[in-house]
Amino acid sequence: MTTTRQAYSRRDFFGSFFRRGREAATPEPIGTEAQVAIIQGRFCLAYQKSFCSVCSERCPESEAIVIEGGIPRIVADNCTGCSICRDVCPAPRNAILIKPCVTA
Ligand code: SF4
Ligand code: SF4
Repeated sequence: MTTTRQAYSRRDFFGSFFRRGREAATPEPIGTEAQVAIIQGRFCLAYQKSFCSVCSERCPESEAIVIEGGIPRIVADNCTGCSICRDVCPAPRNAILIKPCVTA
């Protein structure tokens, strides 16, 4: 007759810990986290009264960057976080950050 203790092998016992550990340690696939662009006014040329609209001209999403009074503004709902605007920003200190979306 097989007792419960004999039926539960050492492999089962230790395997349950390792399986749990592996599942917990599985990272999020890269690129799945939603991101959004943020303009840092102190570095942006347009905020310093220089004409610049490169980010809005190169943004592939409609209405993700709007220019109001010469100043660019990100419309978070339309931004995909693709980072093209950051790549093309000509400011001496890049004015655009790409950050994970924060949901309230
Ligand atoms: S490209 Fe850079 S410097 Fe130019 S308006 Fe956009 S954020 Fe400002
Ligand atoms: S991250 Fe992409 S979609 Fe968002 S504002 Fe910049 S260029 Fe446009």
